[in-house]
Amino acid sequence: MTDIDAIIIGAGVIGLATGRELAMRGLSVIILESEKEFGSATSSRNSEVIHAGLYYPAGTLKARLCVEGKKQLYAFCQSHGVAHRRCGKLIVAADEAETALLAGLKDKGYANGCNDLELIDAEHALSLEPALTCAAALHSPSTGIIDSHGYMLALLGDAEDHGAALALNAPFERAEATEEGFLVDVGGKEPLSLTCGLLVNSAGLLAPMVAKKIEGLPEHAIPQARFAKGSYFSLAGKSPFSRLIYPAPHTHGLGVHLTLDLAGQARFGPDVEWVDTVDYAVDPRRMEGFGDAIRRYWSGLPEHALTPAYSGIRPKISGPDEPAMDFRIDGPEKHGLAGLVNLFGIESPGLTASLAIANEVAARLGA
Ligand SMILES: Cc1cc2nc3c(=O)[nH]c(=O)nc-3n(C[C@H](O)[C@H](O)[C@H](O)COP(=O)(O)OP(=O)(O)OC[C@H]3O[C@@H](n4cnc5c(N)ncnc54)[C@H](O)[C@@H]3O)c2cc1C
Repeated sequence: MTDIDAIIIGAGVIGLATGRELAMRGLSVIILESEKEFGSATSSRNSEVIHAGLYYPAGTLKARLCVEGKKQLYAFCQSHGVAHRRCGKLIVAADEAETALLAGLKDKGYANGCNDLELIDAEHALSLEPALTCAAALHSPSTGIIDSHGYMLALLGDAEDHGAALALNAPFERAEATEEGFLVDVGGKEPLSLTCGLLVNSAGLLAPMVAKKIEGLPEHAIPQARFAKGSYFSLAGKSPFSRLIYPAPHTHGLGVHLTLDLAGQARFGPDVEWVDTVDYAVDPRRMEGFGDAIRRYWSGLPEHALTPAYSGIRPKISGPDEPAMDFRIDGPEKHGLAGLVNLFGIESPGLTASLAIANEVAARLGA
């Protein structure tokens, strides 16, 4: 007999969605969060975009869970009154070479089940977004935006309604395997030890460091953490676009794009800066690179229109010269410890995929 059925490490969107899922399946759940509030790391430092699922190679977890997660997320927003808007997005080609790239992206999207994508010429694109500069565009009508904090609050509400508890200022310190599952040490002002049957490591950027504190986990099962920071800059005044505008994608990010918040305010970002530590301060000098990137699709960007906004850090598990990795949802078949799932590299589209990821974790735990 254990104290609790499941312990979740980290109350970002993944930990909250997983806690909710396990609680709804009838398990007793505690979600441990080291900070004084939930969702204050990557889950509140992103573009808040509900992605369609067109960027990822077919057959990857990112492709499958993004497309499944998008459907589930729109339904969840409807049923739980979470603010969102299916505003659509244009991915813009600046020249012929990029137009060919968009055609490839459309095929990739179709292979993933996004069959509402349309490759449109410049005239059609300008009829939708007159301020645009482009040679062609890929229109994704199912892309949207979401209030990520409202979403996390709704996840927590559901989880608590099903008996789950959130413990704030409660850092996971270490765990060891027992006959029935795990013995987990929790730090903070009132340290305690708890036994559980199932353990989920959804500590985001710090998931590899947390994994190192789980005794018995083989070293080869723990990837090296890599951090790729992305800074955002806000646009003063009214947004010239009503849809999200993205350039043709790059290797480690989707390119400096324009996203909108639900109040219609535009922001540009995120860029890619490889860093060693977690520091969210935005360096205003990074703005220099933004002007050129933005003018490729919006030549009308006025001088001095951008101001530093915020940043987020991508929880990467591959470095700058390596190909982007798929999500890792490592269950016992990967590492040999029954009852444990480690989530590594849950970068974009993790917010979109969160409900589908939670289902996947529950399935791998046999919950
Ligand atoms: C710049 C950027 C833009 C993005 N844009 C999008 C987008 O538009 N759409 C989309 O779908 N996805 C996007 N993403 C991805 C998305 O934000 C993430 O996939 C998602 O937020 C990851 O959630 P998480 O719960 O895994 O991590 P986090 O939100 O980082 O949560 C992990 C939690 O674990 C806690 N923790 C760490 N160590 C411990 C410990 N020892 N004990 C207890 N708690 C601990 C942390 O405090 C934190 O609260 C973006 C990401 C970035 C960086």
